[in-house]
Order: sequence, then C-alpha cells, then structure tokens
Amino acid sequence: MKLIFERSMEGHQCSLVPRSDVPAASLPEKQMRRSTLRLPELSETELSRHYTELSKQAYGVNDGFYPLGSCTMKYNPAVNEEAARLKGFAALHPLQPESTVQGAMEVLYRAEQILCQVTAMDEMTFQPAAGAHGEFTGLLLIKAYHEARKDSARRKIIVPDSAHGTNPASAAMCGFTVVNIPSNAQGGVDIDALRAAVGEDTAGLMLTNPNTLGIFDPNILEITKIVHEAGGLCYYDGANLNAIMGNARPGDMGFDVIHLNLHKTFSTPHGGGGPGSGAVGVKKQLAPYLPAPHVMKTEKGFTFERAAQSLGQVKAFYGNFLVVVRALCYMLMLGGDGMQEASENAVLNANYLRMLLAPNCKVATDGLCMHEFVLDLGEIKKETGVSAMDVAKAMLDEGMHAPTMYFPLIVHEALMFEPTETESKQTLDEAAQTVNALLQAAFTDPERLHNAPSRTPIGRPDDVQAARKPVLRYSFENQ
Ligand SMILES: *Cc1c(COP(=O)(O)O)cnc(C)c1O
Repeated sequence: MKLIFERSMEGHQCSLVPRSDVPAASLPEKQMRRSTLRLPELSETELSRHYTELSKQAYGVNDGFYPLGSCTMKYNPAVNEEAARLKGFAALHPLQPESTVQGAMEVLYRAEQILCQVTAMDEMTFQPAAGAHGEFTGLLLIKAYHEARKDSARRKIIVPDSAHGTNPASAAMCGFTVVNIPSNAQGGVDIDALRAAVGEDTAGLMLTNPNTLGIFDPNILEITKIVHEAGGLCYYDGANLNAIMGNARPGDMGFDVIHLNLHKTFSTPHGGGGPGSGAVGVKKQLAPYLPAPHVMKTEKGFTFERAAQSLGQVKAFYGNFLVVVRALCYMLMLGGDGMQEASENAVLNANYLRMLLAPNCKVATDGLCMHEFVLDLGEIKKETGVSAMDVAKAMLDEGMHAPTMYFPLIVHEALMFEPTETESKQTLDEAAQTVNALLQAAFTDPERLHNAPSRTPIGRPDDVQAARKPVLRYSFENQ
C-alpha cells in the first residue's frame, strides 16, 4: 500500500486546528524552523481511507485464531477497557496530591494484595513496564540482597537452556555471568547438572515453570532447595501465569522473586508494543529493596512510601497504571474460582489441540503439557524439505496467525502453539483441521508450502535486515 506521504496532494486538507485561546508568544530566533515542515496533505476522505487500509493490514485476536506460543494472545474482555478509560483513572496527573488520588492508590494496593495471594508472595511493585523489565528489576533485587549481606562474590545466574531469551539477556544486563544448564530427556531441569553448577558464586537461578516446552517440572521443590542450600535465590519467570494461576503458586514452589506479565495473563491487549506491566513480587527478605514509591495503607488512608534500602525507581512514577486497573477489574470479575478455571481451560485447550495435531507431527515432549506445546518438524523437514517456517507461512494464507517459530532453541524445527483459554472447541477443531492439512501437504505438494504465503501484503521479509537496519522514516530525498 502507499505511504501517507505518497498519497499527499498539494492543497488537499481537512480539519482545521482550533483557534488559539491564549495570547500568541514568539519563539527566540534560534529556535525557529528554517525550512517548511513537510507534512502530508490529504482530504478527510483520503485520510480516513488511509488509516482504514492500514488497520486492515493488522491481524489481531479479534480477527481470528492466534496461537503465538509464549505470548498468550487471548481475548480480553472489553469491560476491562472501559474501566481503564474511566476519566478518574485515565485523566489523572502523576503529580497530583495523594489526597486527590486515593481511589487510584487503592487500585494499586488491592491489585498487589490479590496478586500476592495468587502467587504466594509478600509484596509487589508495578513499576516495570514489561516482562523483561521485570526480570531486570528482580535481578537487581537479588543483587541488592547479596550485597547487603556482604556476600558479593555471588556473580552467577543459572539459566536452563529452555529459558525464554529475555532471561539470560536480563541477567547479563545486570552484570551477572550466565551459566547455562541443559534440560533432561523429559524437558525439565537436569538435576545433576544443576547440582554441579551451584556453588559459593551462585547468585540465583532463573526458571520458567511450566517452561517454554509447556512442561511443569515435577522436581521443582528439589530444584529450589538445591539453589537455596548453595546460598542462592530463586527467580520465577511468571510471564505466562495463565498456565497455573489458581492451581499452583510460585511462592509455594520455593521461589523468592517473580515477575508477572499483566499484559499477557491479566487482560491488557498487547503485541503491538503497547503499554505493559512486568509486576515484580517478592518474599519478605527482598521487600526492603523494592522500587519506590510503594503504596501503603495507613489509618489516614493510602500513602506512598520510599523505603530506605529501596533500589529507587526503575520507571517514572508508578509504572503503566491503567494496565493495573485492567488486571484488577479482570481478577475481581473472575474471582478465585474463575481464575482457576481460566488456567484449567488454558491447559485443557493446549492438550486438546496437541492431541489433534499429534497424528501428523512429532510433539517435542511426551505426555501432558501445560498452556502450550511445541511441534518438532525435524523429521518432516528431513523427509520432505518442508520447514517449520514453510508451515507457519502457509498458516497465514489460511487466515490465522502463525505459532512462535524456531523457539525454544533446543528444538530445531519448532512450532510453539499456545491456543489460550479463550478459544472455543469449534475454533480449535477448525484450526487443527487446517494445520493437519498443511502438515499432510508437506508430502503431497511441498512447493505450495515453500511458496507461501501468497495472500498477505508481505511474503517473507528478511527479518535479520529488518531488525538490524529498520527503515523507520520516509526519505524525501530518494523520491
Ligand atoms: C513474554 C515473555 C517474557 C518477556 O516479556 P515482555 O513483556 O515481552 O518483555 C519473558 N518470559 C516469558 C516466559 C515470556 O513468555
């Protein structure tokens, strides 16, 4: 499609900027623009058509099936959006006096209380803006804890090879050395490798449980015990809490610090880089170091506290507050039983889809999965030449979003499906039929898969080039 600058026609224009209601003031000469601003010129019709066309290029949960593993692309109830748009929340200024924002402070307080109950943590901060930001914050807390105890030789963070890529990246960002340990044959942590890796230099372990293969580690209590006995702390990556919420709690598994992706599990639409919240929960011994300000309940109402040992701020003010509003609304609406049921449905849907696809493709792990599972197309590729990429691209032609590809790294031709709890049996049946047909087509019509997609605006972009050298600005000079 054309860019807005390419649609521009000199003299076309639409809405007029309202007349200023304050006296005009002139800028100092050196701040004045020296050339005319090159803005696109369009009529209202043209403008409307441009944005409508753009909106049709996007694919969201409201368009169809979106099984992007580890991303929890579920449907979020619209009522939570309404709550977040209430003027009393949306139009607040972060510097308003506490006495005028007691309701908003109560939202932070109550969301913290409930989420601590759901995860078996003692305190929580909502400052981090995303999961990876939560990991960074949680690791800083681990660092602060060891340093306060003058135990600063603890420089190593142990990360299993099935970890989400952000885990080792966050540990490295915090200045830790990352120690990778292998998975065992079942996809869980290799206990002997863990025993061999821990020591006096262990700051902690970062673990996703269920992990990115969708496996809940049955040895979890032993794992956290081994780390604790070595003097380390245990970090839980709870980005996908829809796998266990209401059924199991990281605090009970022995974890000391966790993050949750409120924008995945707790009802904020995401995927376009919009506002998120990587809420970080901690056990008591880490609470003094939590980012400030932290909301407290006192006899006189809610107040913001800055603990003396606090890390300080990891983001301006209180994080993405409206994400917390949506999360609280979602949790109050579901209640404890509803949250439990949501995670049970997430697990049921993943297992149902896994069973429907298993006859046509190897599943990376045996037995039950949690909220997601990974197909291993290694054998199909060897026999037919059709890769995970080919199948994912062909799914786009069928009107669905692709699963996560080539992740986790330990499965070479991986397609990671997370159907989420909000899909119906009909949707899963239809999706399975489509994917099964594609898996069979690998043997009968591989060319069709190699050439997919044929119905999307863009086929197979060079993603490395797009990530390393993105073109984000229109260049007038090249026109
Ligand atoms: C999504 C995800 C993250 C990262 O969260 P962001 O909000 O994208 O930074 C970390 N760990 C796991 C397991 C995830 O699924």
